[in-house]
Amino acid sequence: MKYKMKHLPRTPFDGDAVHEECGVFGIYVPEGEEISPAHEAYTALFALQHRGQEACGIVVNKNGVFKCHKDVGLVSSVFSQEILDGMPGNMAVGHVRYSTTGQPSRENAQPLSITHVKGNLAVAHNGNLVNAGKLRREIELGGGIFRSSSDTEVLVYTIVRERLKCGSIEEAVLNAMNVIEGAYSLCIMSPRKLIAARDPRGMRPLCMGRLGRCIVFASESCAFDALGAEFVRDIEPGEVVVVEDGEIRSLHCPQKPETAACVFEYIYFSRPDSVIDGASVERARQEAGKYLSIEHPVGADVVIGVPDSGIPAAIGYAKCSGIPYGVGLIKNRYIARTFIQPGQSKRERSVRLKLNALREAVAGKRVIMVDDSIVRGTTCARLVKLIRDAGAAEVHMRISAPPFRHPCFFGTDIPDRSMLLAHNRTVEEMREIIGVDSLGFLSLEAAHRIAIGCKLHFCDACFSGTYPMEVPEQAEKNIFESEI
Ligand code: SF4
Repeated sequence: MKYKMKHLPRTPFDGDAVHEECGVFGIYVPEGEEISPAHEAYTALFALQHRGQEACGIVVNKNGVFKCHKDVGLVSSVFSQEILDGMPGNMAVGHVRYSTTGQPSRENAQPLSITHVKGNLAVAHNGNLVNAGKLRREIELGGGIFRSSSDTEVLVYTIVRERLKCGSIEEAVLNAMNVIEGAYSLCIMSPRKLIAARDPRGMRPLCMGRLGRCIVFASESCAFDALGAEFVRDIEPGEVVVVEDGEIRSLHCPQKPETAACVFEYIYFSRPDSVIDGASVERARQEAGKYLSIEHPVGADVVIGVPDSGIPAAIGYAKCSGIPYGVGLIKNRYIARTFIQPGQSKRERSVRLKLNALREAVAGKRVIMVDDSIVRGTTCARLVKLIRDAGAAEVHMRISAPPFRHPCFFGTDIPDRSMLLAHNRTVEEMREIIGVDSLGFLSLEAAHRIAIGCKLHFCDACFSGTYPMEVPEQAEKNIFESEI
């Protein structure tokens, strides 16, 4: 069953980009292996840094004793050799965070590590729960006290509550999956077990690999490549994988809703060198470009891509249309991401600092510029001006996603609907605002066909407004956030 959202959503957001969600990692080192889980987690989190740059953390487990280090900042600034050397263990979970629920603060950094009456627990979570507000109120009315404003703490409380009623942590996770609603890919560590769990719709990615005799879990397979680990398989929607005493067991929660993997993982979030649910992200982006060229053909001299995620789509467009591909925008690789910079004036400057037009590639030419998405349209308009100022004769914009018209409740920070360029505007009106000669978006139908090899159904709610589950109403969400 699909649901339409009835109310205006979310709080305003001051960047012209969609924020990533989070990245998770877990490693189990069997007895006799000389591998440091903290160092491996550091490397994996480094490879997953694109999924969140606000905070990061690692919890190691040495024979049941947990040690946690986490803070706001990038992986390279939060951890040092000395810190990692001081975190020996036989298991670890790690996390990189961008806050879609809760404020960016040290308290909200993950993994969340707690001690309950039956032992220690550490949890790294990617995704958002849609019933976190309701669950939090229930727990608070029962005497629970929260330390953070993150929905992950609600999730941890729910697992612990179930743990007190059953015989094992994996049973508690399965029971909690009956209660929590939303998107979640989890790496969970108890004194003796490492557990990976994915929500029944498979909304966020999660995969398993092997590093020698060690078992590793990560949001994306690019983390395994960084470690030199071998990709084994994706965690299935609704699956709970338990690693204990070097053995792997697979359990499944009873709910079997229609799957709803986030299609935007392929369009923008994930690294192009990742393979998610059987589909190459790079290939999916090229396919998006191919469909764009079929759906929105135009006569031109060169196809350029907006770095980074617009480039594979531009290559796909060029291959299919026969128009040559060219490098028209140069990215300054040493600048932090645009959205880290607060305030309008700094943001404007950061666009110019981040990207520059290559005059030789575009001067006097009819240019097709391919980007992955348009949020507010301000960055897009500035890029168009850059290309025109560099002498382009025409600029035709092609977007490798459908227009954003609705919020995401599953871990992606898409701003208030009223702030979206596509809100209540036709394509012609958007074209005028960003100042291009023509504008074309990928169709919804094509978006569902780009991930070749993926057997899951897709969530496309931010484009279609059709949600794969009931989502919070505006009033409830506001109350939840203000109460926190
Ligand atoms: S609403 Fe959009 S961004 Fe959110 S999970 Fe669905 S497809 Fe992904």
